[in-house]
Amino acid sequence: MGKLMFRCPTTGRSVSTGIPVSREAFAAMPVFFSRTFCPHCRDTHEWFARQAWVGEHTDAEAGAASRHVA
Ligand SMILES: [Zn+2]
Repeated sequence: MGKLMFRCPTTGRSVSTGIPVSREAFAAMPVFFSRTFCPHCRDTHEWFARQAWVGEHTDAEAGAASRHVA
């Protein structure tokens, strides 16, 4: 199970939607769009499913975790 991710159109950075989804479920989803708050821009972006992917971990989570390891 991963998290649904999309790329911020302003900064080009990946953003986690926080929505848990499996690759199988994502592949079976119909075309849709959603709005997600972007922590990079502190604004809300609209994004389409074709722009999204399933990430095992977000960049932020991975970075935060690694920074806490001495
Ligand atoms: Zn953004």
